[in-house]
This record gives sequence, C-alpha cells and structure tokens, in this order.
Amino acid sequence: MIAVLRIGHRIDRDKRVTTHVALVARAFGADVIYITTKDEKFKTNIQSVCKRFGGGFQVFTGIDHKKIIKNWKGAIVHLTMYGEELEKAIQRLDTNRDLLIIVGAEKVPPYFYEIADMNVSVGNQPHSEVAALALFLDRFTKATWQKKQFNGNIQIIPCVKGKKVRSKETP
Ligand code: SAM
Repeated sequence: MIAVLRIGHRIDRDKRVTTHVALVARAFGADVIYITTKDEKFKTNIQSVCKRFGGGFQVFTGIDHKKIIKNWKGAIVHLTMYGEELEKAIQRLDTNRDLLIIVGAEKVPPYFYEIADMNVSVGNQPHSEVAALALFLDRFTKATWQKKQFNGNIQIIPCVKGKKVRSKETP
C-alpha cells in the first residue's frame, strides 16, 4: 500500500496543484491520498476521475495527520529538497512494506522532518511537489506503475496520431 499525505493545502491557492498531486499519485501507483484540509470539491473532482478512468484510488480530506502518522505501520518518507539523495534513499527502502509519502505546500513545520524515517530530495533545487512525487513514485515502483490496469469506463488506446478512446459511458 502506497499512501500520499498532502499537508498545508490552501483551498484557494493550492487547488490546481493539489489536484495534480492526487492525479499523479493515482496514475503513478499510489492507493490513497490524505489531505489535511477539508475540501469536498477537490474530493468530488478526484472521485469523478476515478469513476470514469477506473482503479481503486481513495481520497480522504480533512484528516488528522497526527492520527494517520501515529497509526502508520510502514515507512514514512518526507519529500524535501533538503533531504537525502533519491537514489540512495530508494536503495534503503523496502518495497514490500507500506509507504506513506509526505509532500508539502506552504512552509513545512519541523515536526514532519522529525517524524519521517527518511527525508528524501529529488535533486537539491526547489521545484514542485508534483514533480517530486512523480519521480519518487517512478523510482520506488521501478517504473511498474506503467503496467497498472485501471479497467475504467474510459480507456485510452495509445496511438501515434489523433485520439483513440474506448468508452463504456453513454454519450
Ligand atoms: N517553501 C516550502 C518549504 O520551505 O518547506 C516548500 C514549497 S515546495 C513548492 C512544496 C513541496 O514540494 C515541498 O514541501 C516538497 O514536498 C516538494 N519539493 C519541492 N522541491 C523538492 C525537491 N527538490 N525534492 C523533493 N521535494 C521537493
């Protein structure tokens, strides 16, 4: 089980980025996303994607991060530009254990640096939680996320030109 914990989501400022964090989490192999701020609109949007494109991805908003962290049985990784290099960290992570990946939005309080088993950097330049999560999941899953079957009502058939879509939805 791979879970993503998005902290510090500000409903107005972060809605697009948090949506992208959730879509990347879903597409690149995570099973669930926890958002600390309650945001029903965000939840409905992601659930609508899941309904149409398939998979069992789950969304929880307004969660108590301390409870999630306290009850978490697997490893906890916090993505930050200050952390240990990605390639080194990946070698030490057990892919058979559950993993909770924490990503920030605004300034991340020291608490998260302390409770994480590993603070992991995806390069040491400031960039984005979306990019950091995508690269981390790609390395952690050894790119197997690409083979995941979602069995959705909408299925996209890769093609060189145009758009090929198989849809079970009523137009
Ligand atoms: N200003 C915030 C701070 O100082 O904590 C970080 C803002 S950054 C746009 C939002 C999030 O992107 C961070 O909390 C971190 O999870 C992720 N992030 C940005 N650059 C990263 C990097 N080089 N490696 C890993 N994660 C990164």
